[in-house]
Amino acid sequence: MLSDIEIAQATKPEHISVIAEKAGVPESYLEMYGTNKAKVDYNLLTDVEHTPGKLILVTAINPTPAGEGKTTTTVGLADALARQGKNVVVALREPSLGPVFGIKGGAAGGGYAQVVPMEDINLHFTGDFHAIGAANNLLAALLDAHIHNGNELGIDVRKITWKRVVDMNDRQLRNIVDGLGGKAHGVPREDGFDITVASEVMAIFCLATSITDLKERLGRIVVGYTYDDKPVTAHDLHAEGAMAALLKDALKPNLVQTLEGTPAFVHGGPFANIAHGCNSIMATRMAMALGDYCVTEAGFGADLGAEKFLDIKCRLAGLKPDAVVVVATVRALKNHGGVAKADLGEENLEALEAGLPNLLQHVENITQVYQLPCVVAINRFPTDTEAELALVEEKCRELGVNVALSEVWAKGGEGGQALAAEVVRLCEQPNNFQFAYGDDVSLREKIEAIATRIYHADGVDFEPKAAAELAKLESLGFGNMPVCMAKTQYSFSDDQKKLGAPRDFRITVRDAKVSAGAGFVVALTGSIMTMPGLGKTPAAFKIDVDETGKISGLF
Ligand code: ADP
Ligand code: MG
Repeated sequence: MLSDIEIAQATKPEHISVIAEKAGVPESYLEMYGTNKAKVDYNLLTDVEHTPGKLILVTAINPTPAGEGKTTTTVGLADALARQGKNVVVALREPSLGPVFGIKGGAAGGGYAQVVPMEDINLHFTGDFHAIGAANNLLAALLDAHIHNGNELGIDVRKITWKRVVDMNDRQLRNIVDGLGGKAHGVPREDGFDITVASEVMAIFCLATSITDLKERLGRIVVGYTYDDKPVTAHDLHAEGAMAALLKDALKPNLVQTLEGTPAFVHGGPFANIAHGCNSIMATRMAMALGDYCVTEAGFGADLGAEKFLDIKCRLAGLKPDAVVVVATVRALKNHGGVAKADLGEENLEALEAGLPNLLQHVENITQVYQLPCVVAINRFPTDTEAELALVEEKCRELGVNVALSEVWAKGGEGGQALAAEVVRLCEQPNNFQFAYGDDVSLREKIEAIATRIYHADGVDFEPKAAAELAKLESLGFGNMPVCMAKTQYSFSDDQKKLGAPRDFRITVRDAKVSAGAGFVVALTGSIMTMPGLGKTPAAFKIDVDETGKISGLF
């Protein structure tokens, strides 16, 4: 069997100008980055009149550690729609460099459902993440320079919340002491780095709707607090103009293509725990402007990814989805039914059936809480048996759940015909999209609404620190913001070992913080890693480049 990179390299992509023409991008808005990547000027969105196309969200059940094939399904579904003669554009997140060298590997889809050039998309791409890192670190430098140069704002160095970032899994930088070396070299303090994708600048970048909006959001970033506990913002440090200047090109969505030549935007990639985990609003809007159908993806399972896509991104951008695809795999369902990771390759109908409640609960949330049309896509793996696939389909149909087998990983768009037909049908149905909570209830009530309605918890316990922080954030005027839950992706609950559809549990909120520029309040249910590390044999060991510049070992 060929690896993802071997499949990608065996296909000859179209020149990106051909793809742009297919998508209907006027030449004057196209900025070429070589022959197979381009940026599209965001002024297109305001200059050219258009009717937005249908918006299709691809999400998933709670995943196993490997990922369940959301990106693969997103790409394959788009290619399947294209084969049916539809004008379709993909909108995906851009992979973070750190995890590419760690255990996750790349994130450009898999098998015959990939976006290319996958080497570039996974490594540097058009440099957007470096620009985001630079903007983030400029703010950090301005902050420390302000303190060094007299600290007119009275910033308490023990209450600084802004960190420097680098797009690498580098645990050595997690906790550091900086500003050493004496009076001329800064003010010593405890500090630490985050990975770039965990930066609030990344979340802001993905939620910004224009340069002006970007600048306003950057200005609202809270970098720390003064001695008398007043928030200090990036605007107080005169940072937002220069930060936005660093981001002006990055903000233009990156155009690439699928293996079958479908136009795809790959743009922005915030964490799905402390941030909202979706590609940029700019890219989604552009895909909707150019395509009659936009297929997009949200990170993690539907309890985190779809919830944030719907309650944060759609709310802030005024988007209304037309259909939702919930990706499930036989492997993950067996995992939810109690099978250990090592044994997922063996047929086990009992465990499969026992795992189904996880899938059904996600579907119910989409159709009953959000009131959106939904179809389950069973992402077929080579190890799945016919009996297993038949069982999932049969059980879904018994319960009135729309379901389609997806073989896009093995067959490309050809393997997604049934799924595409169902998605087209769902997009024609009127829907009465609702959020899980309203804007004007308290932050605590928002968290309770997510916990009870989406996770199916009995309630929420707020630890004293979280209660105090939420009260403080309300008093500072952040109470009308949506909530961004930081929770394990493996379970509906905040305990990653509770698989399936757990009942009789409560959610514990340990802490909260505001991402004032992004426009949400983060509720932390556990300690969230914002700077990953590398293992003993990271993916980096296999990645190589030959004399001609050809890359190998990415997956
Ligand atoms: P997600 O977006 O949910 O994280 P991806 O689409 O990135 O998942 O897929 C994760 C990994 O699983 C990729 O390496 C991909 O090649 C592989 N994969 C996805 N679908 C299949 C499948 N049907 N059969 C085999 N491998 C698959
Ligand atoms: Mg993905």
